[in-house]
Amino acid sequence: MSRVEIIAVGKEILRGKTLDTNSNWIAQRISALGGKVARITVVDDLIPEIVKELKASLNNRSKVIITTGGIGPTFDDRTLEAVARATRRRLILKQEALNLITQRYRELKQRGFVDSEELTPSRKKMALLPRGSTILPNSVGTAPGIKLSSKGTTIFCLPGVPAEMKAIFEESLVRELQNTIGKQFFQERKVSVDLGDESRLAGVVDQVMRQVSGVYIKSFPSHFGKEVQLPLGITASGNTQKEVEDLLRKAIERLKEELERIGHSLKEFPEE
Ligand code: ATP
Ligand code: MG
Repeated sequence: MSRVEIIAVGKEILRGKTLDTNSNWIAQRISALGGKVARITVVDDLIPEIVKELKASLNNRSKVIITTGGIGPTFDDRTLEAVARATRRRLILKQEALNLITQRYRELKQRGFVDSEELTPSRKKMALLPRGSTILPNSVGTAPGIKLSSKGTTIFCLPGVPAEMKAIFEESLVRELQNTIGKQFFQERKVSVDLGDESRLAGVVDQVMRQVSGVYIKSFPSHFGKEVQLPLGITASGNTQKEVEDLLRKAIERLKEELERIGHSLKEFPEE
């Protein structure tokens, strides 16, 4: 299995102000995608600290390193500078990133969320990326994530804000990881549940995910109501197609049983 390391960056985590839920979430997703998380570290916002940890992860011959935090516009967002140093690259202004950031601030100004759309130095800073980076668009916030390959390791840098981190992960990383993590079989099944209230489902989903390891269940809530069918995406990965299918079947069976217990049912969609 491919070795994956996660580095969470942020003084708030070390001070005990923020609980590092991002690493935990990423670890669950990587496991469900068939990767092996071998190490999780938390470091201060200081460049030498981040560089030290990145170098350690590179020396461990990790296939993938994922960082979270420190890619925003403020002075304490220094992850990308650290990645540039650790991989001996220069930071360059990437026009594609600047275009995305310009467009995002224009939208935010139009919606009245920011006072001006001017590209201030701190906004421009988010387009300063290590040479050779590929951009991972951020559909929720402003700073794009990046992907960078260095001597057999792929480094992904994601924001610290959980909603942004998750959006970039689902929209870009899942696809990228299937290439980097390697030849794992991966499959998704769609089902729906006659429950509009996602919070009632949470316990059931947690339990099934714990019991059927290697399976990830995500709900896609839209609105509340008696007639609502809540769509669920169930994903699994494994070494063989059969292993994946067995995991999915087992997860769906367990979900059905648990839902029946609370007076609800599950509908399966035909396989795609
Ligand atoms: P942005 O790009 O939006 O500025 P960032 O990459 O700069 O984000 P931070 O400035 O480190 O990230 O953190 C922004 C917020 O996200 C913090 O206030 C914190 O609540 C949350 N956050 C950061 N890191 C984590 C983490 N590892 N787990 C959970 N929440 C986190
Ligand atoms: Mg920040």
